[in-house]
Amino acid sequence: MFQRIILPFLLTVSLLAGASAVFAARAKTGLEVAADGAVPTVVIDAGHGGEDGGAVSAGGLLEKDVNLDIALRLRDLLTANGIPVVMTRTEDTLLYDKNANYQGRKKALDLAARRQIAEETPDCLFVSIHMNAYPDARYDGLQVWYSPNHPASASVAETIQRTARELLQPENDREIKAAGSSIYLLHRLTVPAVLVECGFLSNPAEAAKLSTDDYRGQVAFTLFLAISEVCGKTTENFAKSAPNT
Ligand SMILES: [Zn+2]
Repeated sequence: MFQRIILPFLLTVSLLAGASAVFAARAKTGLEVAADGAVPTVVIDAGHGGEDGGAVSAGGLLEKDVNLDIALRLRDLLTANGIPVVMTRTEDTLLYDKNANYQGRKKALDLAARRQIAEETPDCLFVSIHMNAYPDARYDGLQVWYSPNHPASASVAETIQRTARELLQPENDREIKAAGSSIYLLHRLTVPAVLVECGFLSNPAEAAKLSTDDYRGQVAFTLFLAISEVCGKTTENFAKSAPNT
């Protein structure tokens, strides 16, 4: 409730006072505006891991591996742009206590651990990286889901979806979607949170692209540009290093 009141006020003040573009950009997205102008910490969540491979392509490409590779590339780009990053995982593993009695609860404990990392990171934006799959192999394209629990989540999702359309997939007419209870993390998290289904491993052409370093780099760079935008950070110095699209 506090934020609903304060954000229009901040936006008005920033416009009247001619405040920096950074400040205005952040107010516009609805992300929390820190008094000292600090950018949010991006919690990057590479979905699945360990014994949970996630989706799999016809050729055996595992979602967990593509998720982690793109997440690490995104981490490096954001870090180079001065945006703090916390990773939920950097290894091929699920997040649960291997010494505890986890019988039948690995996945639940893993998701709870990811949720806890986000909730314990002050002023954060949660970005979960996944790959899609569907029984009909025709479907392809990046799709962003957002948490309905924070007003900033939808605008972050829209920025990512738009950037993907502009840079990565001009034919992509997918629209952002609010997550229901089937997406545990977005359903439960109260921080700004999105989940990016970067592509369909069930589509042979898209799976083939997602198996390459070049395309993974392009996906990571697309996410980097969009997240930098919502964090109010310029990417001018990175334009020359943009992968070919
Ligand atoms: Zn997944």
